[in-house]
Amino acid sequence: MPHLDPEPPRHTLSVRHFYALDETVYELALHEPATRRALPEAFVQDLWQHQRIRPGALRTTTGTPVEVLHPGAPNPDGGPDFLHARLRIGELLWCGDVEVHVDSSAWFDHRHHTDPRYNSVVLHVALYPDMWTGGLLRADGAVLQEVTLYRCLEAPVRRLLHDFHTRPDDALLCAPHWPDVPADLRTEWIEALARERLEEKTARLEEAFREEPDLEALLYREVLTGLGYAQNAEPMADLARRVPLSLARRYADPLDLEALLAGTAGLLPEPADLLQSDRATVDYVMDLRHRFERLAARHGLEPMTRVCWQFFRLRPANFPPLRLAQAAALLAPGGLLHDDPIGRLRDALTDADPLAAMRARLQAVPGPFWQHHVRYETTSRPHSPALGTTRIDALLVNAVIPVMRLWARREASPALESHLLGLLRRLPATPNAVTRLYGALGTRPSNAWESHGLLHLHRTRCRHARCLSCPIGRHILIPPAV
Ligand code: SF4
Repeated sequence: MPHLDPEPPRHTLSVRHFYALDETVYELALHEPATRRALPEAFVQDLWQHQRIRPGALRTTTGTPVEVLHPGAPNPDGGPDFLHARLRIGELLWCGDVEVHVDSSAWFDHRHHTDPRYNSVVLHVALYPDMWTGGLLRADGAVLQEVTLYRCLEAPVRRLLHDFHTRPDDALLCAPHWPDVPADLRTEWIEALARERLEEKTARLEEAFREEPDLEALLYREVLTGLGYAQNAEPMADLARRVPLSLARRYADPLDLEALLAGTAGLLPEPADLLQSDRATVDYVMDLRHRFERLAARHGLEPMTRVCWQFFRLRPANFPPLRLAQAAALLAPGGLLHDDPIGRLRDALTDADPLAAMRARLQAVPGPFWQHHVRYETTSRPHSPALGTTRIDALLVNAVIPVMRLWARREASPALESHLLGLLRRLPATPNAVTRLYGALGTRPSNAWESHGLLHLHRTRCRHARCLSCPIGRHILIPPAV
């Protein structure tokens, strides 16, 4: 049944519809705000993309809580507005596309209900409810889950609309005043934020360790999550829960390990997907499929769905099948995760060049199949399938050093903690869209530690315009007392 707005806005306009059911003609008057249709759809997309939503407020039209793990990548081409979103709706993890409109009837106006490209939509997002809300169907006949945003927004629509129209793309609010802020103040603030970020990460790891006091298992989960890069971190973490380290350690054959990971991830192609593939590719994949069939039956493994994984706009080196082959190499004999990883990393810390020793521990080279593939179905140009230095450094920064810091804390060794922190200062900065934003103002991170600080500044302050809780903003906005 359509969900009618319980509180129609005060300025309404009546739209009259007539329906004939049996012999009787019924008149239905709908009330909509006069300005509703004038709102640009791009505004609602912006609300969704930047999640201008109060934490915990989002619910489907049937009342089920919705947690947005990733809003999806904006789609500049035809088809749904956001691709590969990850959502927790109730207890279930959903991976799929999201379509956004000002109100629900646009789903039918745009004929998405007859377009199979929209069968991958797992959530419809409308700013306002109307008579169709809660009653949307896809072309495959499935009932579409839906949320309406207008009661969940972090600020009134009028203010958010003003922000949308006046905000320069991604510019920092304080950009024009950045050079007026003393360099010392900026440096100290970035240093404090880097510490804050590391403490937050350590607190999360401590909590995970309390739930399962096993540092090796924690390291395995963090490394797998790190191999997912930003786009596939969540499904990688899910995979690490489904294939725990204790299970992976029961196998030494790299092909069994790859079958275990790729099969559980739902990434092994169906035979029908291999019709265009060459003989060697078909043989390799079919071997993995047979191995996984045995492993799944033995351990009761339930594969994830392929749509959980994102390939869109990823560099081929980050494609999940190749990353899983590298994870299998880390679990195979000789790989860091195969045996006593904490002990081997501890030894690396005492090496004359601890950074080089830790990088060497993370080397992972999958088998020769991956010299000509980045995914299972098709061949690619020859390339090295080994984990590259940039990804190894990212794993050191985001997985290995935080877990080792937790270990140092449990060993009550402040000297080791500061040794690990020193390594973060020696690792190169990771250039990305956020650090480039500050770089354009003249503040370029010179190492991974400073990158951390800038990322944390952007994520926790700039994105939410929390300038009054930022020393840079206070310096600009509040004149010093005379
Ligand atoms: S939070 Fe600080 S750094 Fe970010 S925009 Fe505001 S004043 Fe600038």
